[in-house]
Amino acid sequence: MSNSNLVTCTRISPNRTSPRNHKIDTITIHCTAGQFTAQQVLNMNHITTYSTSKGASCNYVVGKDGSIGLCVPESDCSWCSSSSSNDHRAITIEVSSDATHPYAVTDAAYKALIDLLIDICQRNHIPELKWKGDKSLIGQTDKQNMTVHRWFAAKACPGDWLYQHHGQIAAEVNQRLKGEVDMTKEEVKGIVREVIQEMEAERAAQPESDWAGKAQIRARAMAAGFTDGTRPQSLTTREEVDAKILAAMGK
Ligand SMILES: [Zn+2]
Repeated sequence: MSNSNLVTCTRISPNRTSPRNHKIDTITIHCTAGQFTAQQVLNMNHITTYSTSKGASCNYVVGKDGSIGLCVPESDCSWCSSSSSNDHRAITIEVSSDATHPYAVTDAAYKALIDLLIDICQRNHIPELKWKGDKSLIGQTDKQNMTVHRWFAAKACPGDWLYQHHGQIAAEVNQRLKGEVDMTKEEVKGIVREVIQEMEAERAAQPESDWAGKAQIRARAMAAGFTDGTRPQSLTTREEVDAKILAAMGK
């Protein structure tokens, strides 16, 4: 089982159960209730110090600056959600958040979280994230494969900001997993036009090719009056062809 190569720092917590006893089919997003970098969370006492009563961990940490920390390898069960059955099947992610309600997260953390979720889904063959906000669906991963800490303990986690964004998070991840492009036809045409113009400019800027240089094609064609010698590798228009034929015919 692999871990994300998006991680920017690693400090493995002793607070974990190894290996996990269930395949990964669930995502549980938490909030740190305080703005930290991933490394700062990885270094926290309750994460680095082994304790079956006070110890805690998570699989990944997302920092306020978009840093991503590995805390518990994906092969192992983190101690994160106050539910060992959830943690055995979930990838748990602590996201840096404000310390107070609604526990909002930074743009950098949000973006890093989306990137991390896409990577987790791709490597663990989770085709899409499903969120209904329905506690009664815990464990029914064909209907809902995201869970929240507040369903397992009397906690605000993941905070109202992340909780309210769960639908949007799932939609953004799913759109990118499916490779859908959310653009209008005119926007797509604009990009295609730009690419064609770039290709034409590149071709026009290319020097004479080796074989043509050796055979002195351009010099001979210029001497014969077929060409002005510019853009030797560019496309030829119909009117340019006409001009070359007329020149060849001496008309
Ligand atoms: Zn939590």
